[in-house]
Amino acid sequence: MKKVLLLGASGSIGTQSLDIIEAHPDRFTLTGFSLGKRVGMIPDFLKRFPSVQYLCVSNAIDAENLRKTYPDLKVFHGDEGLVSIIEECPSDMVINALVGFAGLVPSVASLEENKILCLANKESLVVGGSIINGLLTEGKGKLWPIDSEHVAIAKLLSCIDRHDLKRVLITASGGSFRKRSRAELVGVTKEDALAHPTWSMGAKITIDSATMMNKGFEIIEADVLFGIGVDHVTPLMHDESYVHSLIELQDGTLLADVSKPDMHGPIEYALMEGDVPFTPVKGKCLADYQPYHFHDFDPQRYPAVPLALASHRRGGNSNAILNAANEIAVYAFLEGKLPFLSIEEEVRYALDTVPFTEKPTLEDLLLTDKLTREAVSNHIGG
Ligand code: NAD
Ligand code: MG
Repeated sequence: MKKVLLLGASGSIGTQSLDIIEAHPDRFTLTGFSLGKRVGMIPDFLKRFPSVQYLCVSNAIDAENLRKTYPDLKVFHGDEGLVSIIEECPSDMVINALVGFAGLVPSVASLEENKILCLANKESLVVGGSIINGLLTEGKGKLWPIDSEHVAIAKLLSCIDRHDLKRVLITASGGSFRKRSRAELVGVTKEDALAHPTWSMGAKITIDSATMMNKGFEIIEADVLFGIGVDHVTPLMHDESYVHSLIELQDGTLLADVSKPDMHGPIEYALMEGDVPFTPVKGKCLADYQPYHFHDFDPQRYPAVPLALASHRRGGNSNAILNAANEIAVYAFLEGKLPFLSIEEEVRYALDTVPFTEKPTLEDLLLTDKLTREAVSNHIGG
């Protein structure tokens, strides 16, 4: 029986993680969870999971009210609260389903506490990949990714001798504007951008899918997780999101992972630490998912991808600049303060102006994040 702490319980990955925990009462007990501001969801979660003893929310005032309503629960708040709940809540496993840079320190704290980290928060890996890999190499904790492409790649790599691998083909739907040229992106609205064709996800990752910054992040994520250099990961446009990724062997053979676009599968794979039988879903076979459409990736149509890869190749604190600039620009677009096409411009501006550090510590990354947020906010504001 694994005791589980879930960070980001109210979000898209968070709520689907609760479904998986609930479906396996013999394997998992939820001992604590965090969410941001949607405290109205807490009573239902506590009803479903009476084993919960620890909570964390964003605001101090919400935490104070919760302590009065639930005197038997230990309630934390804010960024420090996320670290305290990891340290104090009894758990074997932490699911990090937070969005953005806010997930980095909790990822590091979970590994330092020797937890099994099931990681949806890809920003942690993009910004702090070398720190996270350093902890894993020291034998601190374990890491299972929650991202459909990376679960697919992990499964496929487990079937081959690594020497036979030629490259990974990471699939991409192209997001909400995939049918439009760049010229047709002038003046697009938040509502248009949030209408993803194949996946239902949180707002930030849905915008990252429309710019394809998400795919840039995922190629970096593949490098950090599996040591596959970014030059050996090729994006492949795939309209239906049935093929979650492919690997190509030296002899040209292609292996693919195919299933419906539903994050419950990848979440279950991570929580079960890969111990999920490879049985086909009843009544589903290749024919049930057709048609399949694939297209070459065009870097000029999606410049966020080469931008992200250039940042990763430069190394140091570059990915912290990349990520912070992207976060500020995405939320400015969602608030109607920045045109869609300017998201990439803000990221480029930040990479050109924020000071470079070659071997950043966690503190250096926190400082880079802060400086970049200030620089990009001022640039957008002025
Ligand atoms: P979401 O916006 O739906 O949920 C985010 C959760 O984090 C919420 O519970 C929110 O309250 C909490 N949160 C946000 N900011 C916080 C802060 N500063 N402090 C404390 N809590 C905070 O996001 P999501 O779509 O579930 O994505 C979560 C992560 O998973 C992201 O990194 C995303 O890239 C990754 N991911 C998502 C999907 C998907 O299908 N949604 C797929 C693959 C990877
Ligand atoms: Mg993905």
